[in-house]
Amino acid sequence: MTRTALAIHGGAGTIAKEQMTPLREKDYRAALELALRRGHAILEKGGPALDAVEAAIRALEDSPLFNAGRGSVFNADGQHEMDASLMNGSDLRAGAIASVQNVKNPISLARRVMDHSSHVLISGNGAFEFAHKQKVELEDDEYFFDELRYQQWKEMEGTDNYQLDHSDDEKEKKFGTVGAVALDASGHLAAGTSTGGMTNKKWQRIGDSPIIGAGTYANDASCAVSCTGHGESFIRAVAAFDVHALMSYRGLSLQEAVRVVVHEKLPPLDGDGGLIAIDLEGNIVLDFNCTGMYRGQVGPDGAFLTDIFR
Ligand code: ASP
Repeated sequence: MTRTALAIHGGAGTIAKEQMTPLREKDYRAALELALRRGHAILEKGGPALDAVEAAIRALEDSPLFNAGRGSVFNADGQHEMDASLMNGSDLRAGAIASVQNVKNPISLARRVMDHSSHVLISGNGAFEFAHKQKVELEDDEYFFDELRYQQWKEMEGTDNYQLDHSDDEKEKKFGTVGAVALDASGHLAAGTSTGGMTNKKWQRIGDSPIIGAGTYANDASCAVSCTGHGESFIRAVAAFDVHALMSYRGLSLQEAVRVVVHEKLPPLDGDGGLIAIDLEGNIVLDFNCTGMYRGQVGPDGAFLTDIFR
């Protein structure tokens, strides 16, 4: 039996150290650890990597701290439009949703696209109709309201500016997207990513998170990957798939493949951000080209680790 492993992220970015009070750090670490525990409980019982990924991401979506599910940022119309995707490494099945409103757990809607439709990616009103049919949990707009994110949007309302998730501090630009990658006891990999995208985004802008190969990729032949960062750049770099490609076609190790993508391929494309990845041996790599990434892992040794800065 393979030893299991799970890694998660809650976004990367220029996280200002001086803004991170001990209390705030404690809250972030507790939210990350809860998500790890939810996913790990499934892996421990011999459950599938895909279920562990979904469970961990649901926990992060339920926390207002991250830009996904409940904590999603406001778009130009003062609403929340969410994107999510997940992929199963053993058979390359995948499901994704984009520009969806009022769905409590977008990752579970993506799972339903994978399990109960013949499509990979659905969006907008059509995805909402599908959510209704699938009887996934819906929430009204108040559930997604967060004062800080509302103020962030108010500062940009009516302008052509848009911004990745950020805090009061102008120096602090972060990508609060969440994601998970897992290896299960049967030796299968899975990955998933969920986001509210960018504050004040318009035209139903969609980033990398719901794009298979860009924000999310899993393949039992190599690795499982979930990204966070400037979505447009990650799409152009086909970042998640590129980690797999470097391992499969050039024989690089997981660590080296991630390093090439994060530190060589993304920076020339203004690709600030990071990614988490796992391979069949349970090696975990969490790497980023900015000051920090909310992250956590529980490896084959069963130790739970969370971190924010380098
Ligand atoms: N990658 C996400 C997007 O561009 C943002 C993030 O990672 O926070 O929509």
